[in-house]
Amino acid sequence: MKDLFRALNYVKGYWKYALLNILFNIFFSVFSVFSITLVIPFMDLLFQTNEKLIEYSSKAEPVLSLNGDSIKDFFYYKMSSYITQYGIGAEQIAQGKKEALIFICISVVVLIFFKNLFRYFAMFFLAPIRNGVVRDLRNRMMKKALALPLSYYSNERKGDIISRMTSDVQEIEWSIMQTLELIFREPIIIIVSLAWLIGISPYLTLYVLILLPVAGAIVALVGRGLKRSSSRSKEMLGGLFSIMEETLGALKVIKAFTGEKFIQKKFESMNQKHYKLSVGIYRKTDLSSPVSESVVVAALMIVMFLGGSLVLANNGALSAAAFMGYFAIASQILPPIKQITVAYNSIQKGIASEERIDQVLKARLEIMDPEQPVELKEFKHSIEYKNLSFAYTKGDAGYVLKKINLQIEKGKTIALVGQSGSGKTTLADMLPRFYDPSEGEICIDGVSLKNMRLQDVRSLMGIVSQESVLFNDSIHNNIAFGIETATREQVIEAAKIANAHDFIMQMPQGYDSNIGDRGGKLSGGQKQRLSIARAILKNPPILILDEATSALDTESERIVQDALNSLMRNRTSVIIAHRLSTIVHADEIIVLMNGEIIERGNHQYLLGQNGTYKKLFDMQSFK
Ligand code: ADP
Ligand code: MG
Repeated sequence: MKDLFRALNYVKGYWKYALLNILFNIFFSVFSVFSITLVIPFMDLLFQTNEKLIEYSSKAEPVLSLNGDSIKDFFYYKMSSYITQYGIGAEQIAQGKKEALIFICISVVVLIFFKNLFRYFAMFFLAPIRNGVVRDLRNRMMKKALALPLSYYSNERKGDIISRMTSDVQEIEWSIMQTLELIFREPIIIIVSLAWLIGISPYLTLYVLILLPVAGAIVALVGRGLKRSSSRSKEMLGGLFSIMEETLGALKVIKAFTGEKFIQKKFESMNQKHYKLSVGIYRKTDLSSPVSESVVVAALMIVMFLGGSLVLANNGALSAAAFMGYFAIASQILPPIKQITVAYNSIQKGIASEERIDQVLKARLEIMDPEQPVELKEFKHSIEYKNLSFAYTKGDAGYVLKKINLQIEKGKTIALVGQSGSGKTTLADMLPRFYDPSEGEICIDGVSLKNMRLQDVRSLMGIVSQESVLFNDSIHNNIAFGIETATREQVIEAAKIANAHDFIMQMPQGYDSNIGDRGGKLSGGQKQRLSIARAILKNPPILILDEATSALDTESERIVQDALNSLMRNRTSVIIAHRLSTIVHADEIIVLMNGEIIERGNHQYLLGQNGTYKKLFDMQSFK
């Protein structure tokens, strides 16, 4: 029950549609019951002896009230009057009966037409609900995926998140729809039918009321455990997506190392597990329909027996025709009961998916805006790393950065050097607050990063990193990324500074050329020049260059380096460079080793120290 209302929670924003859906479901149910049961008294009358018909019609017109008997009397009176309208001779009655027959047939067609019309209207208003819920969920997931800190993605696999965004959301759509029908349609059919049944025979209906929940309970047993297996199967699906995602991103390496077999095996073994779970789930789900039908038919036969006995007793408690009508409606309750069990299973699966989605939606946004942010309009004085330590995984003794103290004055250039793995990238990544320090803090103009809006902090910075990050879009849009107002002239200007203009102009559509997935249609150096153009266009006061030129050939590295040098002149820069010759002019050079600063000073000073820096520098100038 609680689960049902959890699903309703999603529908909250769509209550107008939900109300319309309920309304038309009520109409639908009434017409549905009407159309079936009307035929029986009609037929009953039609095949009565003429004497009976004359007898019915010669009575005084009965008063119509909300009571089974009075409705029946009224109906019989009206109908027999209709049949005897031409007179009470055998021929006239035959004529009347023929007309009555035509009338029945047309009535049923009309009733069924309206029943289906109302059903369509009900579905019509259900469509925006189910699709709206899915749309809202997807939007929320996407928003969350964008807001989650980078550290989240080092732990969770992307494929898993994709599977949650696609297949789990789909599952919820089904579940919500089934729930809506379960809550709004089937009960209405059952209630309308039961009202009819009570009208015909309260005694028999008592049994029906006892049998229904018993049947329901038995059927519910079948769906047990479905939630858990569904959750596990979705996990497997997430694994499959992960492998696919990784494979598509690494096709070149896989082919080069002839790793196809290995990947295929990994994929097949996970796919096989998913297959096994899915078969189990289907078997369990498919079991509910036959079980519920059998159970319901058994219950119906009990009603048949009890009602049949009443009719056979022939004491006037229940006429044969009334019982036929009764039974017809009672069997109307059968499909809804079956529907409810199907819905129940689907809801179980839906809940499993909901929990998986919830895990993402509720994942803690570790890096958030403060409640009362300090305004950061411009960068005035300095950036300071204060006693900063950092570990990627919490509780891990292995600090990647240890007690870093560093001051970067506005307008200065700071270079980070050190072996691979010494923590240079991590140190730079702390600045745009991709990660929060484990201990200590970073301040801009004396205010801790944590006390400022993320957007304010990040809009101060431009980043060009080792791997160029490009989107499957035009060159213009890749350079103007994040700056929607950029004009073509500004984009071209930035591209010229980044030494990218010439190669762009050689492409078939110039700045409108599409660069393929992750920039696959470009060379490494070209990709990097686009990334640099993007940073140039953003024109940030603080520039972070993480081995920005390392992917370029010597010739274009020199040209881009010139561009970067002039770009850096009136900015504050943090540069990580593998080629030390490019940072000899830095105001301060920080030498990192195992997350600690072991040497610092300008180029001349460090050479004089005859330490690690000198060693690194000598090694490079040797070639
Ligand atoms: P550098 O840029 O100097 O080559 P990094 O800052 O990239 O070094 O890495 C420093 C250390 O942190 C390395 O030992 C690396 O294994 C570890 N590391 C880097 N990124 C992550 C991450 N996302 N999760 C866990 N450990 C990481
Ligand atoms: Mg690095």
